Order: sequence, then C-alpha cells, then structure tokens
Amino acid sequence: MAKTVIVGAGVVGTALAYELLRDGHQVTVLEKNTKPAEGTSYANAGLIAPGHSFAWASPKAPKILLQSLFKGGQALRFKPSADPALWSWMLKFLGQCTAGRAERNTLAKHALCLYSQACLERVTEETGIPYHHIGKGLLYLYRKPESFAAGTAHMKLLQDDGQEMQFLSGAEAAGVDPALEPSKHLIAGAVYCPTDGSGDARLFTRNLAGHCARNGVSFRYGTTVDRVMVKDGTVAAVRTDQGEIEADTVIFCTGVLGMDLLKGHGLPLPVYPVKGYSMTVPLDAESPAANRAPTVGGVDEDHLVAYARIGDRMRLTAVAEFSGYDRRYSDRDFDSMLKSAGSLFPGVGDYGKAEKWAGLRPMTPTGLPFMAPTRTPGLYASVGHGHMGWTMACGSARLMADAIAGKPPALPMESFALPN
Ligand SMILES: Cc1cc2nc3c(=O)[nH]c(=O)nc-3n(C[C@H](O)[C@H](O)[C@H](O)COP(=O)(O)OP(=O)(O)OC[C@H]3O[C@@H](n4cnc5c(N)ncnc54)[C@H](O)[C@@H]3O)c2cc1C
Repeated sequence: MAKTVIVGAGVVGTALAYELLRDGHQVTVLEKNTKPAEGTSYANAGLIAPGHSFAWASPKAPKILLQSLFKGGQALRFKPSADPALWSWMLKFLGQCTAGRAERNTLAKHALCLYSQACLERVTEETGIPYHHIGKGLLYLYRKPESFAAGTAHMKLLQDDGQEMQFLSGAEAAGVDPALEPSKHLIAGAVYCPTDGSGDARLFTRNLAGHCARNGVSFRYGTTVDRVMVKDGTVAAVRTDQGEIEADTVIFCTGVLGMDLLKGHGLPLPVYPVKGYSMTVPLDAESPAANRAPTVGGVDEDHLVAYARIGDRMRLTAVAEFSGYDRRYSDRDFDSMLKSAGSLFPGVGDYGKAEKWAGLRPMTPTGLPFMAPTRTPGLYASVGHGHMGWTMACGSARLMADAIAGKPPALPMESFALPN
C-alpha cells in the first residue's frame, strides 16, 4: 500500500488526513508539537465566513500600508525590517493590488470558501464530531453611515457571486442577535450573511485527529521534519529528528513554516507571517450577563475586530501585523478588542481571566493558498491559507486528495498553482 506522509497537524493537515483516509491511503501525520492545532489553528476567531472572503490585496491596500508606517495602534501594523523575504513578499503583494486582480483573487477565494463550507458540513455529518458549531450566520457591523455605505458597495461583488446577504439596521441586527440590544444605537448598519457560521477550529482539529487515529491514521507528535529525501528523482522518505520515515507521497501542510524545506524543490513559495492577536474570555454561565454574550459571530468592521461565541467563552481577535515570526504580545495589543467588545457587549465576560494568544497567518500575496504538486514527483504543498484557513481547510483537503488521486477537481486549480 502507498505510504502517504502529511507534515503538520493544523486544521489543514488534519482535514487532509481525513480525506486521504477516506480514499484508502495509509496515512502518517508528522507534527513537531505535542498535540494537533498548536500552531495558527490554536485560537483563531472561529469564523466560517465565505461572506468575508475578500483578498487583502486591493487598490486601497497600498495607501493603508503606507499610513500604517506613520500611525500607531491601528488594525494594520507594518514594522519594516531588513528581512529580504518581507520585501520580496511585499512587492508581489503590491503587484496584486489592481482592481482586476483583486476581483479575480476574491472570486477564486469565494469559490473555495463556499466549496469548503459544504465539505465541512459533510465531514461533520460523516464523523459526528462536535466543535461548538453555530450555523446562524454572521453579522458584519458598521458603526458609521459612510462605512456602512462603503461596506455594502464592497460586499456587492460577493452578493453578485451568489453569497446570500441582507442589509440591516442596528435594531434589525439586534433582532438577529439579541446580545446587540444594548448597543444597537451604535450600529449604523449591518450586513448579515445567514449562511456563514462559526466554530472552534482547535476543537474540530483535535476531534478530527482523534477520529482519524481511531480509524488507522498514525499521528507522530514531537517529530520535526527537516528534509525530504529523493531517490531516482522521486520522493522516497522524510528525514526527521526521530529518524527517517519512508514515503511515496509527502504533503506539506506546515502553515507559515517549512518554506525553507520546500525551497530545494524548485519553489520558493511567498508565504509570509502576518501576526494577529486573540483573547478568549470566559463567560460565567450563572451570571445574567452570560445571556448578553453574542450567540451569532461577526466583525466590528470599523475596528476590524472579529468575535464569536465558542461554547461558554467569547473569542475576540484583531490586528494584522507584519513583524516577522515573533509571537510575543503585550497588554496593549488587546486594546482594540477590549474597546470593541466593551461597547458592543457591555458587562459580558471576565476579561481578567481571558486567555491571550498571538498567531501567525500564513499569508500569500494573492490571499489564495498554494495547493499543488511541486517539481519533485510525489511532493505536494498545501500552505498559505492566510486569514481564512479554518474556512478553507476542508475544501482544500478534498481538492488536494483529488489532485493526488488524479481525479478531476471540483474547482479550477490554476489559482492555487505554485509559482514557476
Ligand atoms: C488572529 C487570527 C484570527 C483568525 N481568524 C480566522 C477566522 O475567523 N476564520 C478563518 O477561516 N481563519 C482564521 N484565521 C486563519 C487560520 O487560523 C489559519 O489560516 C489556519 O489555522 C492555518 O492552518 P494550517 O493548518 O495551515 O497551519 P497551522 O495551524 O499553523 O498548522 C501547521 C502545523 O505544521 C506544523 N509544522 C510546521 N513545520 C513542521 C515541520 N518541519 N515538522 C513537523 N511539523 C511542522 C506546525 O507545528 C503546525 O502545527 C485566523 C488566524 C489568526 C492568526
């Protein structure tokens, strides 16, 4: 039987392990951490958001980037460094900032997100795994009339592409989620995408890994891959700190890491870390305030803060920061989240007990992941899922499994090809 090795047990690698198991592969997953979902999949906002699948590279992006050099404390932070990879990435990103490319990338991303959402529903049905899923849509909130007008105009691209959406007043948004009742006067308008949803990516990944392990996938934690071994021009094994492991097929699902290992195979892939911050706030179920916590996730668009209910907790995330691979944080990094949640959901949650975290989004210049074979037969990459890897994971997995099987893919794969 063919031996298939997946490197990385984040949401992307674990979803792929499930699809390859389903297709009859003998799968081994190698993960340097001691558990699944300890990388970027650990504490993301949890939004399953085809309704928000815009490419970051747009005609407005260069000005916003430039402003971030001079203004502190904003949602986008650019800390220039001498890292050549940053400048090379940035040049490629700027090259994607035309109106035509922004539209093309957004529509390809939207197609992947919608397909992925359907795949996630299938995986949930087939496995029955819980992950605090809420399927009541997402609310994109605008505090100023002018930002609401700009937001609705922006959203039209996805609406024309088949995304279901409703344009609501603040009071109507509070009708969708009563948690907004005390703050509805602050909301100039909302875009409600009723088919979007939310869920805990970490819990999903861990439960899916458990399901896969019970059904024959071998997970080897605490195992770092440092080389792909090639024999007679094709993949033969991977070298790890625990010894060599034979493989006919190897798929890198390493998120923001591992690009140096792929370099030897004709790439290099422009995947750069964009840091984000996250707070998970416990809700006291006994307190009347718990009833005022959000039950429908969303985004405070004027502060660019995302939020979701994750079981008996509220997850908040914010900030896109170019500062390399440094994952440290300070209290100030959470200010925008505290301000946003404090005004939208006053008195909810115990912020003193919040779990703080910073993660690195594996961003590509187009905003689309790389999902394709490399120049070495048997070696594949599925990396660079950026700010929407939870939404795109299950669809990416099915597309990669079809590519490996040589089956016709459900979506055109050109948008996800590796650079020449
Ligand atoms: C603040 C924030 C908020 C976000 N919000 C959302 C959201 O609301 N919705 C959404 O869809 N997405 C969101 N995202 C994006 C999403 O979290 C990521 O796109 C996704 O988690 C990427 O998954 P991954 O499996 O590719 O990477 P990871 O989860 O990082 O997994 C990669 C794994 O590979 C392992 N690895 C790497 N190199 C090696 C090696 N050499 N040997 C062995 N193991 C290795 C790592 O240890 C890691 O576990 C958010 C991200 C951030 C940071």
